Amino acid sequence: MKAEIICVGTELLLGDIVNTNARYLSRQLAKLGIDMYYQSVVGDNGARLLEALKQALSRSELILFIGGLGPTKDDLTKETICSALGLEMEIHQPSLDKIKEYYAHLCAQMTENNVKQALVPKGAEIFENHHGSAPGCAIHKGNQYIVMLPGPPSEFEPMVEEWVVPYLQSVTGCTIWSTTLREFGIGESLLETKIDDLLQGQNSTAAVYAKEGEVEVRITAKAASEAEAKSLCAGVVEEMKTRLGDAVYGQDVESMQEAVVAALKEKKLTLATAESCTGGLMSQRITEIPGASAVFGFGAATYADFAKQNTLGIRRSYFKKYGAVSEQVACRMALGARRRGHSDIGVGITGVAGPDSDDRGNPVGTVYIAAAFGKQLYVRKLELKNGNTSREKIRHLACMHALDLVRR
Ligand code: ATP
Ligand code: MG
Repeated sequence: MKAEIICVGTELLLGDIVNTNARYLSRQLAKLGIDMYYQSVVGDNGARLLEALKQALSRSELILFIGGLGPTKDDLTKETICSALGLEMEIHQPSLDKIKEYYAHLCAQMTENNVKQALVPKGAEIFENHHGSAPGCAIHKGNQYIVMLPGPPSEFEPMVEEWVVPYLQSVTGCTIWSTTLREFGIGESLLETKIDDLLQGQNSTAAVYAKEGEVEVRITAKAASEAEAKSLCAGVVEEMKTRLGDAVYGQDVESMQEAVVAALKEKKLTLATAESCTGGLMSQRITEIPGASAVFGFGAATYADFAKQNTLGIRRSYFKKYGAVSEQVACRMALGARRRGHSDIGVGITGVAGPDSDDRGNPVGTVYIAAAFGKQLYVRKLELKNGNTSREKIRHLACMHALDLVRR
């Protein structure tokens, strides 16, 4: 099905607001397997709106209008479409009742133009607006569908979810379902060779996306229902998990930190961190996750040696003997964090983020990560500089490795 979006609003043309609605709707349509062919923005102007409608009718099967359903004179979307298609308009009583109730509640006078918001094309399918006053609607003529939705994102987004997605599913008779595996530790090219034969399955397709040191694999299937599409993906997903092993840190999770917090919660373990070259990045990542307080209570950014000594109780002689960027200091940091944070697991991160190497000649990108858990100390030595890897990326990767160490 060829679709196009027409956003209506002079404020969009002037750049006063960002067109978040088009992005939101495009993503929803992509999930439904509907092909987006065109997107345009038109000002609040009847003649140009009509021109845009005519052009859309000449080339698209599904046309989605966003905005211009409000009470004011410059809200012209429904009026323009109805007059072009020769459709009468009628009052949608439940919407009118709601508007009346709203004004009664405010003890304010309802003006005539507010009635206009409850006007809909005769015979249209109505999408009730639970977050505002103007209802959305859809009309169907021949093999073409026109959908009209209000502009304010707080009304628009819930309406897409509640009404438009099910409506379009019923029109196209198909659902696309996809699931995402996230992996850290196997590079993109090696990963692809491991699962190459699974990418184009009989009933599903998969795509690999590399980003910021990790890899995402999205598996997608198309079927009459979500349950059916899900089951078409299930076999491929299981096979990929087996082949990639514990490099897969989560399915349908947003980030490594989300997976770590969930894993710690499940195991009922708590975590404390002491960070040097990452300067608190790891504790920031963890505390991005709602509910992190159940697993995380202490994070120290101990950048200077004196801070590592005073806060974590690391002996001065350690720095003389091994240097701040060393396995020994990373381990002491992990133990110090665990003790000071009264936690089950302590993490220490120390390294050279660059751009210059340290005074002991450790090259940029050298990072030691240690995790103390029970009687065990786990350490990773990393060489993160590859070509012109930036300071920012080294810090990011150091943090990802530390989270990955905790997860395991
Ligand atoms: P209203 O009843 O508020 O007038 P409406 O359906 O007539 O709703 P518009 O007047 O076009 O919608 O837009 C109302 C507000 O919604 C805009 O001022 C803007 O803040 C927001 N908005 C409109 N279109 C978009 C869009 N495409 N992306 C993001 N925000 C939008
Ligand atoms: Mg308006």
